[in-house]
Amino acid sequence: MTTDALIAEYFASGPLQGLPQDHFIDGAFTRAVANRKMDTFDPGAARAFHSFAAGDANDIDHAVAAAKRAQRAWGRMKPSARGAILQRTAQLIRAEAGRLAVVESLDSGKTLTEAEGDVAGAARCFDYYAGAADKLQGDSFPIGADYVAFSSQEPVGVTAHIIPWNYPLSTAARGIAPALAAGCTVVAKPAEQTPLTALMLADILYRAGLPAGVCNVVTGTGIEVGSPLVAHPDVRHVTFTGSVRTGIGVMQAAAPNVTSVVLELGGKSPVVVMADANLEAAIEGILGAIYENAGQICSAGSRLVVERAVHQELVDRLATRASALKPGHGLRRPDVGALNSAAHLEKVAGYVEAAKARGIAIAAGGARTVDPQSGQGWFFQPTILDKVTPEDPVIQEEIFGPVLSVQVVDGEEEAVAAANGTSFGLVAGIYTRDFATAHRMARDIDAGQVYINEYFAGGIEVPFGGNKLSGFGREKGLEALRSYTRVKSVAAKISE
Ligand code: NAD
Repeated sequence: MTTDALIAEYFASGPLQGLPQDHFIDGAFTRAVANRKMDTFDPGAARAFHSFAAGDANDIDHAVAAAKRAQRAWGRMKPSARGAILQRTAQLIRAEAGRLAVVESLDSGKTLTEAEGDVAGAARCFDYYAGAADKLQGDSFPIGADYVAFSSQEPVGVTAHIIPWNYPLSTAARGIAPALAAGCTVVAKPAEQTPLTALMLADILYRAGLPAGVCNVVTGTGIEVGSPLVAHPDVRHVTFTGSVRTGIGVMQAAAPNVTSVVLELGGKSPVVVMADANLEAAIEGILGAIYENAGQICSAGSRLVVERAVHQELVDRLATRASALKPGHGLRRPDVGALNSAAHLEKVAGYVEAAKARGIAIAAGGARTVDPQSGQGWFFQPTILDKVTPEDPVIQEEIFGPVLSVQVVDGEEEAVAAANGTSFGLVAGIYTRDFATAHRMARDIDAGQVYINEYFAGGIEVPFGGNKLSGFGREKGLEALRSYTRVKSVAAKISE
């Protein structure tokens, strides 16, 4: 069925046919042991459109046992053969991209255009790690002519992947692909708000030739499914992407088993615009940085740190552009999609209402809205809060919505201090024409990645992760493979 036909079917009849509704365990869709279900919602219409398995610790036990059984053969499979399966996965994702994007848009509320980008990115991720599977090399060590000493990169074993709702397929792919390339097996838990594309991905992997048990997906809530997964003694590594509070709990739950963790947590990332910047480029960058995915991006550029000389012009031009962006149901390809849940809309609106009450100037937006066609959905206007002081909650706390907070600074030193002035350290953007200024700031800003003159510059090749409360460990790039491998050294005496 074409994308247009799928969309027409959805708007005409409500549900979509053939969506997954059970866990994917040991190579097959599998009912929850307790046979309970929960609903997933279309945020653009504020209504449930499908139900799926509400799992518990028993389902996790089955999935982890399947992953453990599959580990030995998968870990010892010829690496190039593992790579070939990942390559076929990328091809199947591309072949089924239309359906994946429609489901991703519906489940998350993001625009179909954004979802199409995410699906293309997921395919690229499998291509990239397919190529890496047979390049995980060890080393040799010069300990004398009577010895042979070398190291090899072994898979760590069963890995757990806890996935948030803002980038359900991309986040699943960026954890699962390197884990599989390294020879690990996987149990993934998507967010309960967006369970569908991770299940579809597991099915695609299996159809691409992945042996049963190598990649399992168990759906349900964080407490009932995530919690027993990260505390499971047979899990050897946890990749967690989500909020700071949950991440701290995950680290504690993994500690008794001495399970390694990578934490990809929140952010409050600055976009620094110096007076000499190319303002056209900065405007495009800032609009994407804060309004893409309706601001529900860990690495959103949610703070504009701008030099006084260009502050008014920049805010005026941004406000004009932001006010022209049209929110709407994701499948209608609006400029800005929905917020993922009613509770999340409440949280975002609460921040803006409290900011207004504190007297903060609203340069654009500032209110809830709806899909213009249906009058429904969980939407918030693209918003700009101007001239905010450094200690204000809208500077210090992650809002995770389409809300840009502006800080005015004088000079490079103040700009760097403002950029570093939160407890997060995920990413930073810098706009300046001065090469030396850009690189001094990149050196001095405490963040896992810095974008110069193009926010979000990069790709799967470039490592990604946070400092400070934004977490530790890195995903993407060859760096990601470190989480899924451990070094074994072998030293042998070869003469009497
Ligand atoms: P969340 O922490 O509430 O949930 C994330 C995932 O953790 C979900 O799958 C949830 O079910 C699960 N979970 C909840 N409680 C758990 C528990 N006790 N044990 C194990 N798993 C549990 O976060 P969210 O609100 O879904 O996602 C938004 C947050 O994620 C934001 O703070 C955002 O910045 C962050 N995020 C970070 C990155 C990154 O790469 N750094 C990427 C995307 C999102």
